[in-house]
Amino acid sequence: AISTSSAMVKAIRVHEIGGPEVLKWEDIEIGEPKDGEIKVRNKAIGLNFIDIYFRTGVYKAAAVPFTPGMEAVGVVTAVGPGLTGRQVGDVVAYAGNPMGAYAEEQILPADKVVPVPSSVDPIVAASVMLKGMTAQYLLRRSFKVESGHTILVHAAAGGVGSLLCQWANALGATVIGTVSTKEKAVQAEEDGCHHVIVTKQERFVERVAEITSGQGVEVVYDSVGKDTFEGSLACLKTRGYMVSFGQASGAPDPISLSALASKSLFLTRPSLMHYTAKRDKLLETAGEVFANIATGVLRVRANHKYPLSQAAQAHSDLENRKTPGSVVLIPDG
Ligand code: NDP
Repeated sequence: AISTSSAMVKAIRVHEIGGPEVLKWEDIEIGEPKDGEIKVRNKAIGLNFIDIYFRTGVYKAAAVPFTPGMEAVGVVTAVGPGLTGRQVGDVVAYAGNPMGAYAEEQILPADKVVPVPSSVDPIVAASVMLKGMTAQYLLRRSFKVESGHTILVHAAAGGVGSLLCQWANALGATVIGTVSTKEKAVQAEEDGCHHVIVTKQERFVERVAEITSGQGVEVVYDSVGKDTFEGSLACLKTRGYMVSFGQASGAPDPISLSALASKSLFLTRPSLMHYTAKRDKLLETAGEVFANIATGVLRVRANHKYPLSQAAQAHSDLENRKTPGSVVLIPDG
C-alpha cells in the first residue's frame, strides 16, 4: 500500500460513557489499509444524533475505548493491496458503519464508500450523506409519500427534519412540521413546511386535527420518541403509518397492540443500515441525494461547523436543541 501520512493521527476517543466531557482529543494509531480497505484523510465529519446515543450508552459500542462518528467525507490517501476501483486522491463519503469518523484519518472498507461528485463541496456532502439517505428511505421506501398525502414531521428544523420537509414538499405532499421555537418555525417554512406547529406554544395533536379537519395524516415521521410517540399515533388517519425512527427525547414507552387496532395502524422502527446494506442500494440512495442537491430539491443547511477537537461543544449544542440544520466537525478547523 502507498501511504502519504504518518501512523499516528488525532482523534476523539470515548473511554467511558457519559456527558460531552467524555469526548477526549487524543493520538491514535490507525495502521495501513488491508485487503479491501482504503485510508481516508477526512475533510469534514457529519455529526449525528446517533453519536449522542453511543456516547451516553443508549446504544452500546462494541468496545471501549472507541472513536465515535458514522459519517465523513475525505480524500483517499492509501489503498489496500490489490484493490481496484479506488485511487489515492479520490474524494469519497461514507455514512453508517463502521464507527470511527471522529479522526483526522481512518481506515474504511472500500465497498462502504461512495464517490462524491466534484460539484458537491465536502462540507455539504458531510452535512447531507447520512441525513439525506435517511430522508430518502423514509420518504420513498419505509412509506412511499405521494402527491396529495398529508404528513407530519417532528423536529422539522433538525438535520434530518429539514431535508424531510424539502423533499416531501417536492413530492407534492402537504407537510406539517413541529419545532420548539419561532426561529426554527421560520426555517421550517423556508424548507417547504406548509403548517408549522411551535410545540412550546401549541399542542400538536389538536393542531393536526384542526389542520386536517379531523381526518389525520397518512404518515408520521417521529424522531423525538418518548415525548411525542403517543400523540403521533393520535394524529394518524385510519390505516396510517407510524414511522418511529429516533428517540431524541428518550425511548418511547411500550405500547399494546390495541393502540394500533383502534385505527388499523402500521408501525415501523426502521434503521438506515438495513436500507443501504447492499452496495447497489447504497449507491442508488446516495445518488438520489446528490441528484436532489444538483437540481435544487435539497438546499443543504450546513449551518454549524466546529473544529473536530471541539466535538464536546458540538455534542452539547446538538443535545440542547441549538443547532437547526446540520452540524459538521472539521479536522483542521
Ligand atoms: P436533529 O438535528 O434533528 O436534532 C434533534 C432535534 O430533536 C432537536 O433539534 C429538537 O428539535 C428535537 N428534540 C425534541 N425533543 C428533544 C430532546 N428532549 N432533546 C433533544 N432534542 C429534542 O438531529 P439529527 O438530524 O442528527 O437526527 C434526527 C433524529 O433522526 C434523531 O432522533 C436520530 O436518532 C434519528 N435518525 C434515525 C435514523 C434511522 O435510520 N433510524 C438515521 C438518522 C437519524 P426542536 O427543538 O425543534 O424540538
